[in-house]
Amino acid sequence: MGCFCGYFSNEITDKELFAAINDELHRQQNQIELIASENFVSREVLTALGSVMTNKYAEGYPGKRYYCGCEHVDVAETLAIDRLCKLFDCKFANVQPHSGAQANLSVLYALANPGDTILGMNLEMGGHLTHGAAPTISGKWFKAVGYGINEDGLLDYNQVKKLAEEHRPKVIICGASSYPRKIDFKRFREIADSVGAYLFADIAHYAGLIVAGLYPSPINYADVITSTTHKTLRGPRGGVIMTNNADLAKKINSAVFPGVQGGPQMHTIAAKAVAFKEALNPEFKEYAKRVLENSIAMANRLKECGLNIVSGGTDSHLSVVDLTKLSVNGKVAAHELDKVGITCNKNAIPFDKLPPFQTSGIRIGSAAMTTRGLGKNEFIKIADLIYKVLSNYGKSCYESVKDEVKAETLSLCAKFPLYK
Ligand SMILES: *Cc1c(COP(=O)(O)O)cnc(C)c1O
Repeated sequence: MGCFCGYFSNEITDKELFAAINDELHRQQNQIELIASENFVSREVLTALGSVMTNKYAEGYPGKRYYCGCEHVDVAETLAIDRLCKLFDCKFANVQPHSGAQANLSVLYALANPGDTILGMNLEMGGHLTHGAAPTISGKWFKAVGYGINEDGLLDYNQVKKLAEEHRPKVIICGASSYPRKIDFKRFREIADSVGAYLFADIAHYAGLIVAGLYPSPINYADVITSTTHKTLRGPRGGVIMTNNADLAKKINSAVFPGVQGGPQMHTIAAKAVAFKEALNPEFKEYAKRVLENSIAMANRLKECGLNIVSGGTDSHLSVVDLTKLSVNGKVAAHELDKVGITCNKNAIPFDKLPPFQTSGIRIGSAAMTTRGLGKNEFIKIADLIYKVLSNYGKSCYESVKDEVKAETLSLCAKFPLYK
C-alpha cells in the first residue's frame, strides 16, 4: 500500500481501516487544497508521528516526570522547546497542548477565573471559537465580550478600546482565523495596559509567516502567545504556548498539566521538534515568502475577474472572497468547488446578510499548495478556475464547465506530486 502507516506497512491486517487511509492519501494527492488552516507535513514529521514514542506515558515536564523511563522522550520534548524558543525568540515554551483549542483553554485557565470578563474577536468577524464564542468553555465560563471589523473589513481598534474601557476585561485576546491583514499587536498592548488586562495573542494561522519575518510578531507585546503547529507552521496537528514571563510560564505549565490535560502525546511532541527544525532552515523562509506571494497573486486575479476581496486584499496566506456579485452563496460555492477538486470553506463577509451556515463568502489559502511546489502562475490559474466554476453556476453550460475544470485540477495535481 502506498500510504504512510508506520514501520510495518507490509504486515497490515486491518484492510478496512488502511483502505480509508489510502483513500485519504489519494484525495490529498488529487485535490487542490485551499483550506487556509491546512498544510502537508514532511515525511520526517509523519515518521515521528508514527513512532514508538506514542507508547510512553510522560506526565510532567522534562526532568520532572511522574513515571520512569522518560530519558528519551525528555530529549524529544527539550528539543521541541528549545527550537520553538529559537523560532519565536521567546524564553519559555510549553509544547504539550494537544491542539490549538487546548492551548487556548489552558491559557484562560492560567490567567482568569470563571466569571471574569474576556475580550476577543467575534467568531463571525474572523475570530476563533475559543475566543469567547457562546457554545465553548470560553463563552460559557467567562463573561465574553466581542470586538470586530469595520465596513472595510479592517480590525476596529477604536471599538476594541471602547469595549475594553467599558468592560475592563481580565484578558484581551487578539488573533484570528479568517482575518487576512496584519494585526497591530502594539496597539493591542497599549489598550491592554490602559485597562490593566493581560494580552493574549493567538497566532495559530500566522505562525509560519511570523517565523519568516513576513508578518508582525507579538513576542514583544503579548503576555502569552499560543499557536497551532499544523497550519502555516507545517508541523503535526497540535498546539503550543509561549511567554517571556517566568511567573506566567509556571502558571501555564500547571494549567496545561495537570489543569487541562493528562499525559502528553510524546509522538506528536517528537514530530513538533522535527517540524520546528525544518522551520529553522533557510528554505522555510523561502517557502513562507512563496506562500505570501502566491496568496496575493490569487487574490489579485480574483479581483481582476471582478470579485471583491474582503479588506481589498491580503497580507497573509489567506483571503476572504466576497461572492455577493455572483449567484452562489458561500456554502454552495464551497460544495461546487469541492466537486471539481478544489477544497475551501464557506466564510462570512463583514456584516453578512446570510446566516453563518450559508454565508456570502469563501476563505482560500495558499499554504498547502505552496508546499506542493505551485507558484504564482499556478495560483493565478486556480483563481481563474474558481471564477470559471462560480460565474457559470446554474447556466446551461455548467456541467461541461465543471468537467473542464475537473480535468484541469487533476492535471495541475499530477504536475506537483505529493508523497510520491
Ligand atoms: C485553528 C485555530 C485554533 C484551534 O486549533 P485546533 O488545533 O483546531 O484546536 C485556535 N485559534 C485560532 C485563531 C485558530 O485559527
